[in-house]
Amino acid sequence: MMDFLHLLNQYVWGTRADRKLIRLGSTVRKINAVEAAFQKLTNEELTAKTGEFRSRISAGETPDQLLPEAFAAVKNACRRLYGTKLTVCGIETVWDMIPYDVQILAGIVLHRSGIAEMATGEGKTLAAAMPLYLNALCGKGAHLVTVNDYLALRDSEWIGGIFRFLGMTVGCIQTGQSPEERKAAYACDITYGMNSEFGFDYLRDNGMAMSREEMVQRDLHFAIIDEIDSVLIDEARVPLIIAGEEEVALDHYDRYKDLIGKLTDAQKRRIDNYLHDAAELLGRNPASEEGIRLLFLARLGMPRYRPLHKILEDSNLRVQLDRFEDRMRQTLAATQFSELKTNLYFVVDEKYRQIEMTSRGLEFFEHLHEDFFILPDLEKQVTAIRADETVPDPEKKKQIENARSAYRCKVETIHDFQQLMQAYCLFEKDVHYIVDSGKILIVDEHTGRALPGRRFSDGLHQALEAKEDVRLESENITYASITQQNYFRLYKKLAGMTGTASTEASEFYQTYKLEVTPIPTNRPVHRLLHCDQVFRTRREKFHAIAEETARRFEAGQPVLLGTPSVEDSETISRILRMQKIPHQVLNAKQNRQEAEIVACAGQKGKITVATNMAGRGTDIRLGPGVVEMGGLFVIGSSRHEARRIDLQLQGRCARQGDPGEAAFYVSLEDEFMRVYGPENAVRILAVDEGSSVSSKRLDSIIEKAQKKLEIHHYAIRKRTLEYDDAMNKHRAVIYALRRRIICEDGAEKVLDEILLRRADFWIASLSPENSEAVSRDTLSAMIFDETGIRIPESEWTKEESDTAEVIAGYLKTRFPVPPDESDEPDGAQRKTMLNSLLLRTIERVWVNHLNAMELLMDNIYLVSYGQKDPLVEYRKEAYVLFEELMDSIDEGVVTALFRSGPLSAHSGISDGESHIVRKNLKK
Ligand code: ADP
Ligand code: MG
Repeated sequence: MMDFLHLLNQYVWGTRADRKLIRLGSTVRKINAVEAAFQKLTNEELTAKTGEFRSRISAGETPDQLLPEAFAAVKNACRRLYGTKLTVCGIETVWDMIPYDVQILAGIVLHRSGIAEMATGEGKTLAAAMPLYLNALCGKGAHLVTVNDYLALRDSEWIGGIFRFLGMTVGCIQTGQSPEERKAAYACDITYGMNSEFGFDYLRDNGMAMSREEMVQRDLHFAIIDEIDSVLIDEARVPLIIAGEEEVALDHYDRYKDLIGKLTDAQKRRIDNYLHDAAELLGRNPASEEGIRLLFLARLGMPRYRPLHKILEDSNLRVQLDRFEDRMRQTLAATQFSELKTNLYFVVDEKYRQIEMTSRGLEFFEHLHEDFFILPDLEKQVTAIRADETVPDPEKKKQIENARSAYRCKVETIHDFQQLMQAYCLFEKDVHYIVDSGKILIVDEHTGRALPGRRFSDGLHQALEAKEDVRLESENITYASITQQNYFRLYKKLAGMTGTASTEASEFYQTYKLEVTPIPTNRPVHRLLHCDQVFRTRREKFHAIAEETARRFEAGQPVLLGTPSVEDSETISRILRMQKIPHQVLNAKQNRQEAEIVACAGQKGKITVATNMAGRGTDIRLGPGVVEMGGLFVIGSSRHEARRIDLQLQGRCARQGDPGEAAFYVSLEDEFMRVYGPENAVRILAVDEGSSVSSKRLDSIIEKAQKKLEIHHYAIRKRTLEYDDAMNKHRAVIYALRRRIICEDGAEKVLDEILLRRADFWIASLSPENSEAVSRDTLSAMIFDETGIRIPESEWTKEESDTAEVIAGYLKTRFPVPPDESDEPDGAQRKTMLNSLLLRTIERVWVNHLNAMELLMDNIYLVSYGQKDPLVEYRKEAYVLFEELMDSIDEGVVTALFRSGPLSAHSGISDGESHIVRKNLKK
């Protein structure tokens, strides 16, 4: 074992982070000294430590004070287990790990609620054992969060041995487990599980459970998130949703599909002509202005069109085209530009994922569908109806209602049309989604993995289903939802580990207050990093990759080819097949044995093609003889938008001091280069006529573009979070209310409050100028309206308390089941009834609210046309909705209580198959 402390002494003049490591280094020495002393203990004496630590914590000692001893106990347990057999995921292995100093160091960082950045293969799994043990001593549980089920099971069985040896219990949450199994796993001292499982359990516990017994989680005390960047950054925007189906009109999609097909065909014909003419013109004169103009039109109309890219393989043309585009986009050329656009039916903006219909497109469509895009002026219509004196009032009401619904219908139609346009022009099969056994599966843009069960929102998914001719599925209705970000922020103490966090350090700090500490590697890194190879075309790039792979294959060196998309991995696989190079393909379509395949990627002569992060978390050990060949060779088939993802990929080689090599191949046609690409790179390349170029300068240009994009994406995530905040607060209030009913004060007390609040509401709705007598009459009528109960005159004249209390007090005596009539001495039945009534009502109203908020979110962008800040407007509207929500709960409870006839113990309890309120909740 290398002494990293020795290594650290060289850092005296280093950065802040280095100095921090030196400080932590003294704690590591202390832990090692304690561990040396523990070696003299018997097994029984060591395991007795757990009990001793627990009582010392109860007696007031803090986990911080116990850290050296607790960490030492774990290290010592590892030493005692050394050489013993254990079974991990069905495979028998031998325990061979005693934490290195760097792992102890990482453990300290984790305990202090930070992010330990530790390279792949450095042993994060073991490092987490120490802080898990220490924090579990408090008796409130400690969670280890992984990115998939397999890793949760593997790590709980692998590391679990230590905890059991020390007298702690270990549980593991897996998809598909019963509530009983989950509850048992959460009751353990330490619980492993996958990120979304934890989140879903939280939602079920707090949004759906009807009694304490149905809840499975305990407090959210301490969690360590493995691969934290994947969970909190890549998946930050993916909310966890518990949903059911709602019936919506799906016929729009099928109805307009053919029309859009015609429209896109017409555009394609046009562009084919342009390209044909352009080729001819440019063939005669390579600088033909008209030729370039036609190419530009083609790019505006179909930026992903293959024949266009074929022509643009000529770098000279590409440079001219870019110059032309620059010119067009200048404000001076605005009129010229918009005139140019009218040649097309629509213009596609890839970067902002927008499609702009031109006047030609509108005409084309209206020719088939008169007035299709014309929204009626609702306000004008309503005013006209109101002003019409020949129409009686009730009829007016009906007419206004009709006008409103016609308007809504039109808005929906246009919306569905726009979604279809997006589906046709911006979403590509096998890049953005795949079709698998009659279903559209989203492909995660970061990992290239299919995400079964997730759907694009807002009708886009249906649009894709229509486009691909698969069965349209109805839109989901949300019953409960939370983003992973917000779930994990609920923990009292949070920590994380990953190989790649530094590039996003400021986001981790600002959003989660988590500081990133890079941990030195146990042994020096021997990774040979090549400069990027930049090609003009994808074709040239892929062939160069295949050539390089073939060369390595002949020598027997294993190669791991990482691609950003399924499409790319299939292209590479096709070329390799043609060259008869045996290889494994691992992509979104078959992710089950992912881990096993990746684990073998370091064997002699193995060629593995995988989407970027497939098999993340799996250790790649080198096979015999591979070290001599230079270790694993990693090829990235393009640069990703985020450096982090590239670093993950290159981190797959050269683990634990192994040798390894990494190279990225880039072409100017790659999505990243094309859409965000630094045009300078293009210019540099235009000068050079070689088949590929690579230079440090080019590398830094690419990196700069990545950095810019990272900032851009962070801004988007931050914005999403700001929007999310409103929802998050509402959720907190409602879940707290549910908790009070289920676990704390009970239904009775909450009900009293509701009655009182409702009475206040009735009183407040009457204007204060009204005289006593009038207000009492109106008040009586109002109460009668909602409850069907008339408050007798005698009640009103009671003097001792205020009006609200009088009302609430009287209503309470009129419960369908008065307290004295309940059949059991402790009133258990009454309790169950009230519980169920309250929870059901909250659920119904809350689900409505969730969906109203979703609708608000979908439409809030409209206000930006009015030059208002959508976020400000959103908050305002959300606040109004929330106030309505609270009033609706009170109202709903009161009506349910007095209006739904006598209660029985079963009223309001659903048929047991699910807690979910059925469809048509939206009015
Ligand atoms: P990471 O999650 O950091 O990528 P893992 O926890 O998967 O790394 O561990 C990588 C490999 O290193 C595993 O094969 C493990 O057995 C080995 N390893 C980790 N820590 C030690 C140790 N202290 N002694 C020996 N082997 C270790
Ligand atoms: Mg790991």
